[in-house]
Amino acid sequence: MSDLEAVSLRLEARGYRVTPPRRAVIAAVLQQAGHFSVEDLLHRCRGAGRATVFRTIRLLTELGVVCRVLLDDGSLHYRLSHRPQHHHHLVCTGCGKVQDLDDCAVSDLVRELSGSSGYEIEGHWLEFYGHCSACRSEVLAGVSS
Ligand SMILES: [Zn+2]
Ligand SMILES: [Zn+2]
Ligand SMILES: [Zn+2]
Repeated sequence: MSDLEAVSLRLEARGYRVTPPRRAVIAAVLQQAGHFSVEDLLHRCRGAGRATVFRTIRLLTELGVVCRVLLDDGSLHYRLSHRPQHHHHLVCTGCGKVQDLDDCAVSDLVRELSGSSGYEIEGHWLEFYGHCSACRSEVLAGVSS
């Protein structure tokens, strides 16, 4: 079974119809090697309207097929997720590489905060920005990009 079929089946199992435009969006998402924005997807699947692209990407996020990455310029990107559960990212501001972290490192903090504030904490954002080891060694070697 192809990834496209597998994802389509998961959507259908949740009661969503996988229409041809939606299928085109899923196929475009599965072809992305790195992170991408909704605008990138709109360019890649001309047959799908803006609303369809937004709705499909939201469904894929809920299913854990893609995860959201907040870049350090404030733009929201997406990428194919290697971990269906909640996690954070290491983002290289040099080459744009994004790495999934194993799990949530601040779950204790969230519990504490919930206890002390009386809030029921439902979510949080945490991304780490910096330079990956490849970019760092380029800087050390004095190669400017
Ligand atoms: Zn890098
Ligand atoms: Zn991720
Ligand atoms: Zn977390």
